[in-house]
Amino acid sequence: MKKPPRNIRYSQQSLNLDDIDAVIDVLRSDWLTQGPSITAFEDRLVQYCSAQHAVAVSNGTAALHLACMALGVTKGDIVWTSPNSFLASANCARFCGADVDFVDIDPITRNLCVLELEKKLRLAKLNNTLPKVLIPVHFAGKSCDMRRIFELSQEFGFSIIEDACHALGGTYNGKKVGCCEYSDLAVFSFHPAKVITTGEGGAILTNKSELSEKIRCLLTHGMTRNTELMENPSHGPWYYEQIALGLNYRITDIQAALGFSQMKRLDAFVRQRQELAKRYYNKLVNLPIILPDSSDIEACAFHLFPIGVDKKIRKTVFTALRSKGIGVNVHYIPIHTQPYYQRLGFAWGNYPNAEKYYESAISLPLHPELSFEDQDFICESLEKILANVTTLSENTVADTSMS
Ligand SMILES: *Cc1c(COP(=O)(O)O)cnc(C)c1O
Repeated sequence: MKKPPRNIRYSQQSLNLDDIDAVIDVLRSDWLTQGPSITAFEDRLVQYCSAQHAVAVSNGTAALHLACMALGVTKGDIVWTSPNSFLASANCARFCGADVDFVDIDPITRNLCVLELEKKLRLAKLNNTLPKVLIPVHFAGKSCDMRRIFELSQEFGFSIIEDACHALGGTYNGKKVGCCEYSDLAVFSFHPAKVITTGEGGAILTNKSELSEKIRCLLTHGMTRNTELMENPSHGPWYYEQIALGLNYRITDIQAALGFSQMKRLDAFVRQRQELAKRYYNKLVNLPIILPDSSDIEACAFHLFPIGVDKKIRKTVFTALRSKGIGVNVHYIPIHTQPYYQRLGFAWGNYPNAEKYYESAISLPLHPELSFEDQDFICESLEKILANVTTLSENTVADTSMS
């Protein structure tokens, strides 16, 4: 009998019966939103990351937006981030009316390059265009060089929001990403593609109580019931005040209960991702491709496993893998090349390392539900495809040279 075609996804949530029961328990309870599950989930994040405060919100994009708002980002300000990221890393500054600029990446880590950052800061100081906030993105789950970035923030006077959407469960200098030792705030996403999931969901971690208080107020319309924050005397027990312009970025208890349950398996998820990553490194080492930085596997949360192939054959290899039912993907189309950002003045050529990496990038499937058997199939398929495509392109070169 013919085997059914494979359908290997690049990323996939891992839910067990405990997760499902946790959600059902909330559905049977009095609180669907703003109830005890949210506090429990936030406390768990605080404990896990060793930060002082965690605020759970509706998604990672909302978390980035609130983080910018809490730092007072507004029109006339400048926010810097990595071009090799998801759109939200830059959009969050635009929501606040600020200008965005990018720092090119390091070709090995594919994180924003700290040497480039330092160079750009020195120049910006002369031109009076220093950023108010820097958003380093821990690409694929590997932390940026936060200590150096923090030193530069002290010298040049900017705040730091870690876009840690890929890096929950990862570490930096032996401490959990999200501890905010070298940043003002760190942001996570719990989209099903990420390390743990709440469906949609996100969180902001910080050690600064004034920032967490601001965020709690902004995520629910800028409203407060805390009399200490009010500007007028209370009218009575029903009284609330709007003290700022906020939004509705609340997470539900249904989602938070799922998040709390998923946190129990976070370490196991990360270990499984690292195990699969090690298998990829072993099996792919002799292929003509660029593997992700393997310098500190135990510290990386391995949200992604992005390889680089010769840009002339990237599309062919990508399409061939997809046709075998292997759900490869590409992370990321550089943000500055999007039409929206091009209209703001950016152009191809602005950040050559991010562009060069993009032109070669293919993310291989990686998630805790990926079986070794499927992973072996991916590796064997990639090897065969590369062998075929390489011969083909050699022939093409020969053909053109003869014509
Ligand atoms: C997923 C992601 C986000 C946005 O998170 P959502 O929960 O999807 O809104 C932001 N930044 C990065 C780097 C991400 O991967």
